[in-house]
Amino acid sequence: MSDSKGFVFSKTFPLSLQIAIALILAVVVGILFGAGNPNPNFIDLINHLTIPCNLILKALRALATPLILLAILHAFLTVHIPGRSGRKLAILLLSNTLMAIIIGLLVANLLQPGRWWSVASFGAAPTNKTLDPWGLLQDIVPPSILQPLVDNNVIQLVFVALAFGVVLRAIKTEQVAQKKNDYQPIEQLIGLLFEAVMAVLKWVIALVPIAVFGIVAKTIALQGFKPFISLAAFIVAVLIGLFLQGIYYTLRVKFGSWVSPQRFLRGGSDELLTAFSTASSTAAMPVTFQALMQKIGVRESSASLGALVGSNFNNDGTALYEAMSALFVGQLLGLHLNLPQQLMVVFTSIIASVGAAGIPEAGLVTMTLVFTAVGLPTQYIALLITVDWFLDRCRTAINVMGDMTISCLLDGKTQHVEQVDVIYLEGDLSHAEVQKE
Ligand code: ASP
Repeated sequence: MSDSKGFVFSKTFPLSLQIAIALILAVVVGILFGAGNPNPNFIDLINHLTIPCNLILKALRALATPLILLAILHAFLTVHIPGRSGRKLAILLLSNTLMAIIIGLLVANLLQPGRWWSVASFGAAPTNKTLDPWGLLQDIVPPSILQPLVDNNVIQLVFVALAFGVVLRAIKTEQVAQKKNDYQPIEQLIGLLFEAVMAVLKWVIALVPIAVFGIVAKTIALQGFKPFISLAAFIVAVLIGLFLQGIYYTLRVKFGSWVSPQRFLRGGSDELLTAFSTASSTAAMPVTFQALMQKIGVRESSASLGALVGSNFNNDGTALYEAMSALFVGQLLGLHLNLPQQLMVVFTSIIASVGAAGIPEAGLVTMTLVFTAVGLPTQYIALLITVDWFLDRCRTAINVMGDMTISCLLDGKTQHVEQVDVIYLEGDLSHAEVQKE
């Protein structure tokens, strides 16, 4: 991962402020253009307001597959996880992400935020893809290695990435044992390409305020403020989902580790605030690591596995959000995603959360894969861009809380004695910092 500071953009003029200004301007322009009763002479111009948004969505779609491919290969080549912890870590990561997606799907199915407004006139007609599990099985192997990149086929992509990831790792281990280093150029190349995709992604994300302006101005001009009622319902539904996931983490920590819920929440409050204010789990990672060791008091090995590995691959908030978004857009379009389709949402959201970079708005990139997999048209992601600047902050806080949870669970049910001298007495956080220094 590259320097986290690079992802926080300008400190004096942060992305969220740019988006807020874009929203205000868009409301003004939307009202000037008719707020639901557009002047027929301006319809053409209004429709063209979405050009930046369409370009940005195309760029996000194009970046999604290389990002996931490189993220998986990079992880296989560079992450070192000791054997037993590795298995435990994998089970914890998977079970927490699954829970996040289940919560997301339950809340979206129960509250049905997309039923508040029909979007029939928003764009191209949706294609309601029906899923055939046997067909899916036969489809796992791509016709050619590069085909999944061309088709944005996430299942085939993961198949190729896992196959090459496992093999490259095995070659590296063998060469390290023989004191050879032929694998290094490939490892460096993959690291370099990964950095490059992230850098391009950063440029695309910097343009999001322009997209927000265009899409909001067009929506208000053509349809007034009604569509935003549904988006408000969606925001509430996502916040409920994330809140439930937060409760789940706290219970997991209470029953699966020695850390008490109070200690977990008070010790982690700085990390959660940092995550919320930067919308980047990568940027919050150093704070997470520090707080886990100094304030919560877990062992260094547990803190590093949870914070360092977790901040790269553990994005439960993103998984929950992507699953809810797919259902929300399905509901807006009047499409009922059936059970196999929802299972597909589960699977692709897991992959999407693993592939999502820990930077602001990164979830939008992998969301294109979730939508493609269930046959939802990706242009509806444009609607979500309007509220993503806020929801991104909330899901990032949950992503980081997920990393903290993993660290506590890895630390086990008994407090490690070595750590006692750096641990604060319950209720006195400042004490920990003083002692550590
Ligand atoms: N911003 C999130 C993070 O850094 C990723 C996302 O967009 O979902 O964790």
